[in-house]
This record gives sequence, C-alpha cells and structure tokens, in this order.
Amino acid sequence: MLFSAAFKIGKKKLTFTFTSLANLELFCHKVRQEYPNLMFYVFNRTKPSPAPQGYVPRKDKMWCPFCAAERKFVKWHVNPKYKVCEICGISDAHWHVRKENKLWESIIFTEDGDVQIRKGGKTRKIGKKRRSSK
Ligand SMILES: [Zn+2]
Repeated sequence: MLFSAAFKIGKKKLTFTFTSLANLELFCHKVRQEYPNLMFYVFNRTKPSPAPQGYVPRKDKMWCPFCAAERKFVKWHVNPKYKVCEICGISDAHWHVRKENKLWESIIFTEDGDVQIRKGGKTRKIGKKRRSSK
C-alpha cells in the first residue's frame, strides 16, 4: 500500500509517498515539529474509503475516496474536460469517485408515468411517459 502526504505551500503542492504508514507518520511528525504552521493532508491512493451514508456532492465539492474526505475538485490542467481532487489529484472519471458521488446517470420510470434522471444524488424530471392509447 502507498501512503502519501500533500503539502500546500502558497500555490505549489508537494507530495511525498511512503510504502508504510509508520514512515509517513514519522515524516509528518518531524515536519510538524519543524514547521508547526504548515498545512498538510494525508491520503491513500491504494485504498478507497466509501462516502458517509446519504452523502450528496455539493456544487464544487465531492467525496474523495482516496483522501477519505470531502474535497474541492478543480479543472485538470492537462485536460479541462476532467476535474481532479485538489489534494491527491484523482480525477472525477475514476471508478471509485464516480461510485461514491453517484456520478453515473440513471433513468427512472416512476409508477405514475414520470421519467426522471438521477445523477449526483439529485433527481431531475425530464418528462412524462407517453400513454399507450387503446
Ligand atoms: Zn483526494
């Protein structure tokens, strides 16, 4: 497994990755001693964590399964079609990100004949099913 820590220094981001959690903790401990005001985030790109029950993504924030936290997703500088987690860099096209934030669209036909699209925990009505005329 891989354990990482990301440091935000101004607009730059530095990431350090370790193969053991003990080494990461030791490193973070030392950094905290030297620079008590430095903000850093710990994440694990090899083990996704599920979103809390009933989680609904917000306008600019989604559940990041690798940070195990709600994170801001920003436009990816390589391809602006995608958004990436501002800390660990995972994209919104990743299977686990899509799963936890319900980014797949599903079409639902309700009993009273409505057609709805459900995506990102939100439901949108798109029309009524045509009634079969007999
Ligand atoms: Zn992340």
